Amino acid sequence: MLPDQPSSPIDLSGLERTELEQAFASLGLPAFRGRQVFRWIYGRGVTDFSAMTDLSRDLRSTAANAFTIATPTVASSQTSEDGTTKFLLRLADGRQIESVYIPDTPANTFCVSTQVGCAIGCAFCLTGKMGLVRHLTAGEIAGQVRVMAHRTGLAGSAFNVVLMGMGEPLHNYDATRKALRILADSQGLALHPRRVTLSTVGLLPGLERLAADPDMPNLAISLHATTDELRDQLVPVNRRYDLAALLDACRALPLRKRSRITFEYVLLANVNDSVADARRLVRLLDGLKAKVNVLPLNAAPGIPFDRPSDARVDAFARTLAEHGIRVSVRKSRGRDIRAACGQLIVEGERAAAGAKLAERLPSS
Ligand code: SAH
Ligand code: SF4
Repeated sequence: MLPDQPSSPIDLSGLERTELEQAFASLGLPAFRGRQVFRWIYGRGVTDFSAMTDLSRDLRSTAANAFTIATPTVASSQTSEDGTTKFLLRLADGRQIESVYIPDTPANTFCVSTQVGCAIGCAFCLTGKMGLVRHLTAGEIAGQVRVMAHRTGLAGSAFNVVLMGMGEPLHNYDATRKALRILADSQGLALHPRRVTLSTVGLLPGLERLAADPDMPNLAISLHATTDELRDQLVPVNRRYDLAALLDACRALPLRKRSRITFEYVLLANVNDSVADARRLVRLLDGLKAKVNVLPLNAAPGIPFDRPSDARVDAFARTLAEHGIRVSVRKSRGRDIRAACGQLIVEGERAAAGAKLAERLPSS
């Protein structure tokens, strides 16, 4: 194809740096020009070729004809009383996702989505009520961080990324891993794997692939129940990968020195929040380098559970601590703007999801 043929430009947004260099080379352009463009995109947040001033005028116009750099656009944003900002991002095909910037926790953190909707259907999660609309591409996953880092002025400084937005990252393994490689590149945002936490319900094939990956991010496993009977209800994929298999897989994961697997546990009033549950959790985690992150339910219309009282949350957390388990109770950020975990759902889908849920759970 001729470089100036306008018909099908190559999208550079999902390419690792070496692939971007190859894209330039494939047009007979010097590969190092691709590296320069990578730096513009990730290091400086510039996606308009005409602004890439260290490329010649000719090269800028050749590149503009041959390539595009798909970038999520900010359809709207809302900032909470605590500074948390939720972005509604529009993708190239018009689909929308939510991503969140959480300042000072203590690090600045970006919470990103890996799918539009989610197929897992956890009983307490609004995103799950949407079902899976589609996977995000590597460019769309990395693009959320790129857009937020440059908008908040944090590109160039250290920040954390948590894959805790919409979607199940291990259900979209290849795109997620590729996005993390793009973000890790020292010529771009230089995001170290230690600064990334991937949250998953524990799809075993994905966990096994991660175990073999030298750049494995930190892991957070969404457990939420201490018996298969209950977890089957709350996290339906438990019927396929049960607690014993999941915890065995966790035991087999190679961990960096001093690092631990986080187990997330959403507390639902009178469902999984008793002291007996806490004791069972202690036994389940026996022998694991674990810490537990207790998440009192973020309630929302359409979620058929209640948040436990503070006293019950304390009793649950104290029981874990008394048995030597490191535990933190997540302070919900951005609840007033529905930016908290499990509350991410695209407006417009919200009403539909509520209706769908009401159909399914008429008596709750
Ligand atoms: N799909 C992945 C990552 C996204 S959800 C996962 O489930 O791990 C991130 C975290 O938010 C998970 O631990 C999830 O269980 C939790 N969560 C979902 N809905 C919630 C809600 N309504 N209140 C509190 N936490 C919730
Ligand atoms: Fe999907 Fe995670 Fe929500 Fe479960 S909690 S439905 S896995 S996004």
